Amino acid sequence: MLITDLVLHPIAISDPPLRSSYGLHAPFALRTIVELKTDSGLTGISETYGGDGPLAGLEAVRQRVTGMDPFQLAGLSRDLTAAAAQEMDSTPGGRTQTYLVPGENPLDRHARTFAAIEIACLDLIGKAVGKPVCDVIGGRVRDQVSFSAYLFYKHGVFSGPEDEYGEVLDPQSCVRECRQMISQYGFREIKLKGGVLDPDVEILTLRALRDTFGPAYPLRIDPNCAWSVETSVRVGRELQAELSDGGYLEDPCATLEGMAEVRRRLLAEGNHTPQASNVAVTCFADVPRAKELDAVQIVLSDPHYWGGMRNVQYLSHLTGVLGMGLSMHSNSHLGVSLMAMTHVAAACPNLTYACDTHYPWQTAEDEVVVGGRIPFVDGAVQIPDRPGLGVDLDYDQVARGRERYARIPYRRRDDEAEMRKRVDPNWKRVLPRW
Ligand SMILES: [Mg+2]
Repeated sequence: MLITDLVLHPIAISDPPLRSSYGLHAPFALRTIVELKTDSGLTGISETYGGDGPLAGLEAVRQRVTGMDPFQLAGLSRDLTAAAAQEMDSTPGGRTQTYLVPGENPLDRHARTFAAIEIACLDLIGKAVGKPVCDVIGGRVRDQVSFSAYLFYKHGVFSGPEDEYGEVLDPQSCVRECRQMISQYGFREIKLKGGVLDPDVEILTLRALRDTFGPAYPLRIDPNCAWSVETSVRVGRELQAELSDGGYLEDPCATLEGMAEVRRRLLAEGNHTPQASNVAVTCFADVPRAKELDAVQIVLSDPHYWGGMRNVQYLSHLTGVLGMGLSMHSNSHLGVSLMAMTHVAAACPNLTYACDTHYPWQTAEDEVVVGGRIPFVDGAVQIPDRPGLGVDLDYDQVARGRERYARIPYRRRDDEAEMRKRVDPNWKRVLPRW
């Protein structure tokens, strides 16, 4: 079986006005659907970041991929890793996501490109041998994968009909949002995207969530580095009870050194709340330092930018060896990405928390897989009893996504610009904000 064609579908999907410390989500998120056609008649698919940067990365490997055997991925990985190493050498300051939203970091673009090809190849391999992808990559350790209720502070829709969640800019509306999400999807863990309102309001929000849902629902908060070390320690102290019982504090402040300081000071108070990261730790090279400093106890994987599904499995192994936990980061995505996340999470023995997903924030109108939205039962997605990723493209829906993409003016994610346009013309991302 040889790859005969790489087909790229740039699409745009509706996205609600969600807030984070990066700014505001634009009305559309950009994604790319990847198809690998083969001489056997099988087609493999994947989904990745969208816009000009990710598309250019994929275009750059078109020749390399055409004619490639999808079973032979190591050579492509070697070539892209070598190219990335060369660029790292000439770029001071590393590759963290402190200042760049995921998908817009030029230094992990090779890992993202490889991942999109690898996942489509694994879909192909699964279809060729008649096995689900999780079993192709070594076998599942669970048949369904749990996800968390991913809560956001958000604005009401700026133009057009209101979405099902409305405005969420205080503790009570956040509890309402959580109740809606849990009743619809059955999630059993709760994550709040913080770094948006004054930390005291975010503390009250977590307390209101704990009061409403109880300790059976572990809580995590992720302000994406919006806090100083001082504020991080204070919030960690105030939320010690709420973040215990399987919760965590995610990227409270910038840099591994900052997180290490927060950790030291909380431990000195007898506060063992673990810290998680997908900002200070974004690649394998970051893990030893994170461990050495005891800055991070839980690494947040993501098959899209950690270089594919097998790299996430290596990360599961590495974090297990180092005595660290593992969870999964997410970005706005559709069903193809959800299935890739589910398959790899099913095949990671050391997955210690429910994964994040933005899926509840996307809509049936934009879903590109045949049969529409992928169901959640008790907050979990089941591995389908089908070969490959277990989902097929609905080409009419892909065409609609392409039309939306062609209609909108922007070609990269810029939450800061969106914030200035819709909320505050003088808004700038300042770190630490509090
Ligand atoms: Mg995060």
